[in-house]
Amino acid sequence: MFRSQYLLPSAAAEEEEKLREECGLFGIYAPGQPVAQLTYYGLYALQHRGQESAGIAVADGRVIRLHKNMGLVAEVFSPADLAALPGIMACGHVRYSTTGSSLAINAQPMVCYYGSGMLALAHNGNLVNAVSLRRRLAAEGALFQSSIDSEVIMNVIARAMKGGSRLVEEAVAEAMKVIRGAYSLLVMTEDKLLAVRDPHGVRPLCLGRLGDGYVVASESCALDTVGAEFIRDVEPGEIVVIDEKGLRSFRGGESSRKATCIFEYIYFARPDSKIDGFNVTAVRRAMGRQLAREYRPEVDIVIPVPDSGTAAARGYAEESGIPFEEGLMKNRYIGRTFIQPEQKMRDLAVRLKLNPVRDVLAGKRVLMIDDSIVRGTTSGKIVRMLREAGVREVHMGVSSPPIVYPCYYGIDTSCREELIAAKKTVAEIREFIGADGLHYLSLEGLLSVFGERRGEFCTACFDGNYPIPIKEDVRKLALEGD
Ligand code: SF4
Repeated sequence: MFRSQYLLPSAAAEEEEKLREECGLFGIYAPGQPVAQLTYYGLYALQHRGQESAGIAVADGRVIRLHKNMGLVAEVFSPADLAALPGIMACGHVRYSTTGSSLAINAQPMVCYYGSGMLALAHNGNLVNAVSLRRRLAAEGALFQSSIDSEVIMNVIARAMKGGSRLVEEAVAEAMKVIRGAYSLLVMTEDKLLAVRDPHGVRPLCLGRLGDGYVVASESCALDTVGAEFIRDVEPGEIVVIDEKGLRSFRGGESSRKATCIFEYIYFARPDSKIDGFNVTAVRRAMGRQLAREYRPEVDIVIPVPDSGTAAARGYAEESGIPFEEGLMKNRYIGRTFIQPEQKMRDLAVRLKLNPVRDVLAGKRVLMIDDSIVRGTTSGKIVRMLREAGVREVHMGVSSPPIVYPCYYGIDTSCREELIAAKKTVAEIREFIGADGLHYLSLEGLLSVFGERRGEFCTACFDGNYPIPIKEDVRKLALEGD
């Protein structure tokens, strides 16, 4: 399968040890600008949100053209591919697989003819009622080409357009009454670009200005990359419409509470992004400071697992006064084509990614900070590596609570059995990874970082409190679709 054949070692280590974000969105409405090229750069900035496939759909007022394939952004598009996508607006997508398997047919954006026109759609998130919706649509004669829930959304919107007698924003508002779950969407017709965020605002989406045009992106770092000025986040339940008349906003749905994925701040989002008013790096530092208030082992230095633990480790050092050191160096030049080591050489995958700095570490008592532990295998390998480098004591601080429950909202959580914290106590995990001490940030401590806005987040993978009820097996869609 694509993922295991070509997985780069850094991603292999991360697959073991990290939850994975599923998708990144970038949209632009800017007549007179090279919209395909700008989308390419925007997707480049969002590559961390999905590395299996990439695609760009461009509209010129009359037709929609599409180029997409498996691979990284730089692998999918050549200058000629981009030159073949002239237009006044574009929507782009980078993807990992969630509900669908890792196949080119599941790459996005998806483009269809709905009767009197064309529609493109790019989706970040996961529906929780996709299985029943798909069954219903199929029973009514709908055909599906892919195994992803995004095609279900596309079908619902296309039907709601009633052959073109309804405006696309009306059709999207209608669709929002039917689809449930996490969805940030870009919807494009030949002459209109829509940005949509689900009523709980689970996945991020923000809006920027570029000259006379507009840009929409999963994260603000993509706006910075193309030189756009941040305007604001798209509100939960909002439909933003951009066309030749300018920008308009509609309410598409309401919910009793906002529930943005708190893991966007812990790990997924790029540190230079700002989501819903919170700077990601500042939040991670504050988590580290809070960790220092909760856990203070007798150590000489604090080191991060780079890069995921860096901001929290700096925060910890600020609060505790314990010196911050770079005790692990990350190899940033590992490419996709690297041959994955065989099982007996598996430790190599971690060693290729991280190398201990012996002069910094030897003879020291060390507190190592990371943002999360999923399976625990990589943490164990790093602890062993530090001991081999002469570290006297290794303590581990995790800047988030134990992950006990799976995610149904667009994050590829291992099934519950693979989550180490679902099976073991903290003491057992400490033993499993071979550390002298282990502490996870408390949920209360994590939420305290957000002050009065602490009630605006999904924390279901820590406490099982799912803000959007899960009534069907969302993983089934891939099986039914394959
Ligand atoms: S369950 Fe966890 S990973 Fe999933 S949306 Fe909620 S906080 Fe994010």
